Amino acid sequence: MDKISIIIPCYNEQEAIPIFYEAIVRTAETLSQVQMEFLFVNDGSKDGSLKEMKRLAEKDERVKYVSFSRNFGKEAAMYAGLSYASGDYIATMDVDLQDPPELLPDMYRFIKEEGYDCVATRRVTRKGEPIIRSFFARMFYRMMHRLSKTEIVDGARDYRLMTQQFVEELLRLKEYNRFSKGLFGWVGFDTKWLEYENVERSAGETKWSFWKLLIYSVEGIVGFTTAPLMMAAFIGLFFCLVAFAAICFIIIRTLLYGDPVSGWPSMTCIIVFLGGIQLFCIGILGEYLAKTYMETKRRPIFICKETNIRLP
Ligand code: UDP
Ligand code: MG
Repeated sequence: MDKISIIIPCYNEQEAIPIFYEAIVRTAETLSQVQMEFLFVNDGSKDGSLKEMKRLAEKDERVKYVSFSRNFGKEAAMYAGLSYASGDYIATMDVDLQDPPELLPDMYRFIKEEGYDCVATRRVTRKGEPIIRSFFARMFYRMMHRLSKTEIVDGARDYRLMTQQFVEELLRLKEYNRFSKGLFGWVGFDTKWLEYENVERSAGETKWSFWKLLIYSVEGIVGFTTAPLMMAAFIGLFFCLVAFAAICFIIIRTLLYGDPVSGWPSMTCIIVFLGGIQLFCIGILGEYLAKTYMETKRRPIFICKETNIRLP
């Protein structure tokens, strides 16, 4: 009998967990031919999430939990879930029901019958999301599409069903700065995309502020393309050429018309402008350096404080 593990990262989700559990149990009933494992990852919640997980684990032996020593972020929670999961097929799903569990039987069928290695989902609308957020998200994906060789799909969710082989390869990517949307694409294999309309959160509220998302997008850029570094070099080259042309112009003009002293305001503007560009480029460089620095420390991606999973 096949076994599906469902990994559910949770951070302060005590209201959402019971609602999710009911929905997933209903879905599990339609998949009677497979065994299920519901693996909740408690990402250092400060509310009663862990208590909720333990309560469910007591009455349902399919429920497993892994609890972190602090908040490590959703990426770390997914990584932990993937490494603890024991299923032949492994799914990652949000606890807020924004990833509809009803899609799971279809996803399973695609892998089982059509031989895909992974079934991923993307939402085709961003209904119910702030307009500026959608705008920046779209800009980000358009830019990544141009800059990176790794396929990063617009609207892709972290809701996927993967084969064990896919997950094993994914776990070999041990980087500390994890940007899953890119990592999934990087490992390759045959991926089937399912599309669905955006669903709003069942309970609780989003953990992603605009600022957090912005930082996350920088993670994506730095993690999957070195194009910005090249851009800095191109900007430098461009300004060298402009400066060279300007010097030629000024020399010729001085020889022809003499050298009246004037134009210091424009000079100030130019200096400030170039100073800005230089700082910007140093910033880009710094970002790559910082990521490299963090990677070289080789810190663990997560620390598990307690779990009801016995590792073999
Ligand atoms: N999450 C997590 N750690 C965090 C932030 C979020 O494990 O530091 C989980 C959260 O509990 C939820 C999922 O990641 O199951 C998606 O979070 P959220 O719904 O806040 O994000 P959104 O759907 O708004 O992008
Ligand atoms: Mg959500």
